[in-house]
Amino acid sequence: MNTQEEVQSPEICPKCGSKLSEVVATPTGKKLQRCSAGQWNADTKTTEGCTYVKWLQIEPEKLEEKCPKCGADLLLVVTRFNKRMKKCSTNTWDPKTRQASGCDYVEWINGTSENLEEDCPECGEKLVLFTTSSGKKMKKCSTNKWDKEKRCAVGCTYVEWLK
Ligand SMILES: [Zn+2]
Ligand SMILES: [Zn+2]
Ligand SMILES: [Zn+2]
Repeated sequence: MNTQEEVQSPEICPKCGSKLSEVVATPTGKKLQRCSAGQWNADTKTTEGCTYVKWLQIEPEKLEEKCPKCGADLLLVVTRFNKRMKKCSTNTWDPKTRQASGCDYVEWINGTSENLEEDCPECGEKLVLFTTSSGKKMKKCSTNKWDKEKRCAVGCTYVEWLK
């Protein structure tokens, strides 16, 4: 292996070499730094100048749960695309060797469900209130399940998205 990567200060734009501006938070709680040579124009809704944006990692939240594989603490991690997962706190990414080390336990959070006292208009079974990992809510029929072996949904397909 003979790859030599340029060591760059994290505060300098890799596109144009200008300094990065201060960290700003988006309405959804994500954090980013823009290049100081770029300016967001709210009128035209475009970035003028350098378009480099550095997304900052959201600090993972420590959970009360333990890793089922190794017993260490689990962390709640939110990805850039607003997906949530639990991962083992011993798992770390080494940017130099580009390898993950530690325990590889990961559990994607697919949302939560709650039983409702409402009947499905299609088949008469109970409905469940389902909250997706991105926070959207829907009512769906409790007979609707994901068959892992067949890789398809089975049961009643009634779904009602809530606003
Ligand atoms: Zn720049
Ligand atoms: Zn673990
Ligand atoms: Zn149904």
